[in-house]
Amino acid sequence: MSAALRVAVVGGGLSGVACATRLHRAGVEVVVLDRGHRLGGRMATRTMRGTGLPYDGRVVDVGASYLTASTDAFGELVSAWAARGLVVPWTDRFHVATARGLDATSTGPVRYAAPGGLRGLVEDLAADLPVVIAPRSVEEISRDGDDVLVDGERFDVAVLAMPGPQAADLLADDDPAAAQLEWQEWSSALTLVAAYERRCWEEFDGVFVNDSPELLFVADDGRRRGDDAPVLVAHAQAELAAAHLDDPARATGLLVAALTALIGAREQPAWTDVRRWSLARVVEPGLRTHWYDGTVGLCGDAWSDVSRVEAAYLSGTALADAVLASR
Ligand SMILES: Cc1cc2nc3c(=O)[nH]c(=O)nc-3n(C[C@H](O)[C@H](O)[C@H](O)COP(=O)(O)OP(=O)(O)OC[C@H]3O[C@@H](n4cnc5c(N)ncnc54)[C@H](O)[C@@H]3O)c2cc1C
Repeated sequence: MSAALRVAVVGGGLSGVACATRLHRAGVEVVVLDRGHRLGGRMATRTMRGTGLPYDGRVVDVGASYLTASTDAFGELVSAWAARGLVVPWTDRFHVATARGLDATSTGPVRYAAPGGLRGLVEDLAADLPVVIAPRSVEEISRDGDDVLVDGERFDVAVLAMPGPQAADLLADDDPAAAQLEWQEWSSALTLVAAYERRCWEEFDGVFVNDSPELLFVADDGRRRGDDAPVLVAHAQAELAAAHLDDPARATGLLVAALTALIGAREQPAWTDVRRWSLARVVEPGLRTHWYDGTVGLCGDAWSDVSRVEAAYLSGTALADAVLASR
């Protein structure tokens, strides 16, 4: 492997950081650039401030709810995080809500949660990367011969580790990579955080909601994170989210009412917050792990059979392997 290879990874979500870490460990010079103040992307953890509640200052996951590991490659990383207490097995049992109510439970794979928030896992993986620049919003990726320019700075390879529409915004319309993104259609999401004075609902870990115009999934964040704080996180249906993207706070009343009815909460939340995701999930995943033409690489959770945390990791590492194999 040529130590002189210089790679820019644009996007510091899990896919970008996984790609960058694998390249760095193989001796490649890597720079990670992310427009957020902190890494993590959709593994997003917020600090609850100004709630007036005794647990003010606590963190809550507002993007991905949990992670699962179905492959050895990702399972090894999750086990290493678990050994250090960064992730804990949360549950393999969720309730399912139908028109009849919250009546059944369904078992599935073990879902892992992060007591300190899922964002911390991405930051942990990035810890040994020498150059991480954030916040830094990249505006343009262009080509010059075999090189690539990232806002005018020359690299051998640029990795775009983000949802397709965000990557397409950086590329010239006639760039070969842009054509590889045209298939990606994305849905949006809203996340309601509802913080209560006390627990006022029957116990559950999470609820998959069927046939609701408002809600898709509800997680008990106190049980998920293990501090038992009375905090629920409700994810809205994509159609409702799309209708409220310009003013997510306007959806608060609707979401709180739907949540209260769903779980039979006996009190109203003392504090709420709604977070928007314009690009939450790809509608039809791509079935390939990545795309790479020797100069520009594309990765992220869209490049997989299911758009999820594990897919982001596998996509980023697969692209890193392709870069390493080509040199
Ligand atoms: C509401 C919600 C719930 C979810 N629930 C789950 C779940 O329970 N389990 C699960 O496994 N998955 C879940 N997911 C999916 C999971 O979050 C993603 O699969 C994973 O985090 C994607 O990682 P990524 O690196 O591919 O993309 P991202 O995390 O989106 O990372 C892309 C990064 O690129 C950066 N970026 C974009 N444009 C630029 C630019 N121009 N310049 C610099 N940086 C830029 C962004 O700031 C971001 O950090 C959920 C997602 C959402 C939105």
